[in-house]
This record gives sequence, structure tokens and C-alpha cells, in this order.
Amino acid sequence: MPVCPKCGKSIGVLVCVQVAERSYEVSLNENFELHCELLDNYTDIRDEEYRCSECGAALFKTHHEAKDFLSSLGSG
Ligand SMILES: [Zn+2]
Repeated sequence: MPVCPKCGKSIGVLVCVQVAERSYEVSLNENFELHCELLDNYTDIRDEEYRCSECGAALFKTHHEAKDFLSSLGSG
């Protein structure tokens, strides 16, 4: 399993934290309450961070780096 460079523990998963802007289509329903429907095409990921599942340290910023890390055997 890959090893976290910060805490030295073997980790099989990363925690992905995303900051995203989402758009909803908003309308009134028959009870005059707002009805919000997520527009899939209008989700814009502003920032993304992959953290160690053990110590929480921010390790990677991209999907590619996370994939490389998880597919590696680590150094120890
Ligand atoms: Zn760690």
C-alpha cells in the first residue's frame, strides 16, 4: 500500500475535498414553495484537494497525482 509522506502510515484511500459552484433551476411548485433542481452541466469544480485518510494532510491537487499515488506501492 502507498505510504503517506507526512505521517508515514500505509493508506489505501485518500479523502477528496472539492470546492464547487453548483447551479440549480429554481421554480415555484403548486404549494408556492421553491423547487430546486440541480443542473448537472452547471457544476464547476473550483478547487480540489486530496488528503491523507489518517492524518488529514493535504497531499495532492489533481486527480492524476492521486491516481499515481494510489497505484504505487510506496517506498516502505
Ligand atoms: Zn498521513
